Amino acid sequence: MVHLKSQREIDLMRESADLVGRTLAEVARHVQPGATTLELDAVAEEFIRSHGAEPLFKGHRASRNIPPFPGTLCTSVNDEVVHGIPGGYVLQEGDVLSIDCGVHLNGYVGDSAYTFPVGELSEADRQLCDATYQSLLEGVRQAIHGNRVGDIGYAVQTYCEQRGYGVVRDLVGHGVGRKLWEEPQVPNYGRPGKGKKLKEGMTICIEPMINRGTHEVAADDDGWTVRTTDGGISAHYEHMVVIRRGAPEVLSTFHYIEEVIDVPYRREAIAEGS
Ligand code: MG
Repeated sequence: MVHLKSQREIDLMRESADLVGRTLAEVARHVQPGATTLELDAVAEEFIRSHGAEPLFKGHRASRNIPPFPGTLCTSVNDEVVHGIPGGYVLQEGDVLSIDCGVHLNGYVGDSAYTFPVGELSEADRQLCDATYQSLLEGVRQAIHGNRVGDIGYAVQTYCEQRGYGVVRDLVGHGVGRKLWEEPQVPNYGRPGKGKKLKEGMTICIEPMINRGTHEVAADDDGWTVRTTDGGISAHYEHMVVIRRGAPEVLSTFHYIEEVIDVPYRREAIAEGS
């Protein structure tokens, strides 16, 4: 069942989402060739706990057969799509690093993701990141009262497929609130006018996972790390959004991150976009 949030709940969720944005910005200061993903994870955990919150992903169980997730962050490098486990991997110049971060604060979840360039990216990888980012904004624009879930997916899918990218289908966005996963599912593909109706007060995470190459993905033996089956590079951005009448309200923010990393063209895109 979809739970529509009160204004008080939404205000608390904005605080949770804001902390995720600030955590990712703190992590961004340490994203550079030579750093390990485990070092980034430690930065995030310390930052989250020092702000009175709990890392949401740490200890999360997907199923009985898979060990609980050990990290605060999901750090997914290059052909890893999502759910990469922080570890001893040393970041290299040109790596595409997707970081997903979740917190639990005052009873409510914050959940957002951003893909970081490690040093300079190749032109093709930069274009992938820009397209994924823009597709998120296209999806967010559809997240308004009276539209349907399929309108969001269709916007993301068409934007990316027109550019020749693979849109991951096996993992999807989701409702969010007291829990990380609430109804409805929010796929990054779909048909306009189809799927669950969006209602004012619904809170959802929209999170395109977009590949240079096939949309097909598979999990590693660790049970968590999801990567492209053809080794193509993947990018991932995620916003938390409240459904409103007329225009969506984005709860998460990339503002803090983009004060740390230099992406002026994105600020313009956001100003024009959502
Ligand atoms: Mg999410």
